[in-house]
Amino acid sequence: MEIKRIKKLSEQVIRQIAAGEVVQRPSSALKELLENSLDAGSTQIKIHIRKGGMKMLRVIDNGCGIKVEDLPILCERFTTSKLRSYSDLQSVSTFGFRGEALSSISYVSHLTVTTQSRGSPLAYKAHYKDSKLVHPRSQQNSKKQEEPAPIPVAGIPGTQIEIENLFYNQPSRLRSLRNTNQEANQILHVVRCYSINNPQVTFIVTQDNKSLPLLHNKSSTGDQSFERIEEIYSLNSKKCLFNLQINTLINSTFRLKLNGSVSNVKYFKKQKEKAFKKQHFILFINKRLVENNQMKSQINKIYKQVLNTKGKPFIFFNLILPPECVDVNVHPTKKEVKFLNEDSIIEIINKKIQKLLSNELDLKTIEQEK
Ligand code: ADP
Ligand code: MG
Repeated sequence: MEIKRIKKLSEQVIRQIAAGEVVQRPSSALKELLENSLDAGSTQIKIHIRKGGMKMLRVIDNGCGIKVEDLPILCERFTTSKLRSYSDLQSVSTFGFRGEALSSISYVSHLTVTTQSRGSPLAYKAHYKDSKLVHPRSQQNSKKQEEPAPIPVAGIPGTQIEIENLFYNQPSRLRSLRNTNQEANQILHVVRCYSINNPQVTFIVTQDNKSLPLLHNKSSTGDQSFERIEEIYSLNSKKCLFNLQINTLINSTFRLKLNGSVSNVKYFKKQKEKAFKKQHFILFINKRLVENNQMKSQINKIYKQVLNTKGKPFIFFNLILPPECVDVNVHPTKKEVKFLNEDSIIEIINKKIQKLLSNELDLKTIEQEK
């Protein structure tokens, strides 16, 4: 066999590969945009999709906006307003911190940003490609000589980010994402989760050629996550779900706070309905939507043991831990989050669920014996 020489990949190829890791599908791009809008203090976020977000994905928020002076470097890699030094990572309270999302998106799509920052009389529109500010696509030939710059436009305070033709330059990724309904559902799932965990924010999702919105959750001041779950999954949560609250010291060192909703016995009576056969496991740790298979499978086990059911429970947890106990810097998508004392925390949650379920079962037996 001929031994091939080792050569360094071009910067462009390296960036494209890295970008494909951060942005895996329309919903992962959307997650980044939602988190940016929430970081910007938005109280209303509108999402519009075309062809499952593959043709177009637009997010409009009413947050603080971006200063026009920052637009030229907005999509460069590692440009952020949220982190200044490595030690800030210990206490990072925003979703974003590494300035990678918009840059990555600009490598795999046509990206347009329109923003009006607080105090600015005008909005500005800017187009990006491969992390750089560029001329609008329609003028790219005629304006070749001029330096591209943000264009002043009439607007409203806040930011609109539009991603068009996602993965236009990654044919193999395009082929694997042909099912636009599946992508639309995935987008809806991500928005639902953020909507449940941010009840003070209005979320609206619309799609082309459909008159009814896919989702319309008006901001509420009441309680909130519970109501949103009820609304989104058409559940009467007061009957089907327990409200779970935990506020305790772990190993006498740090405080765990948990607010959540989990299935009760009645929930499983509804299991015959199709929607309930699906597992719903929504986990937020310090406001980030994450996955934790260990927690999911252990909780499922408890339900199986106590209720002897094949049905899958509904679980929503909003877990708050001191930032220094959570390592958010493990993966570019920040989906996998490691946290200290995982086992003890899962055990505490499990015991609480077990107790709630057993109490409910005992009550039922007492009622039946009466
Ligand atoms: P990060 O969120 O990690 O800082 P991003 O690439 O997601 O990196 O965003 C880069 C910067 O762009 C952010 O730090 C923020 O200053 C600004 N930004 C992005 N989206 C918005 C938005 N919707 N509203 C206001 N500022 C935004
Ligand atoms: Mg971000």
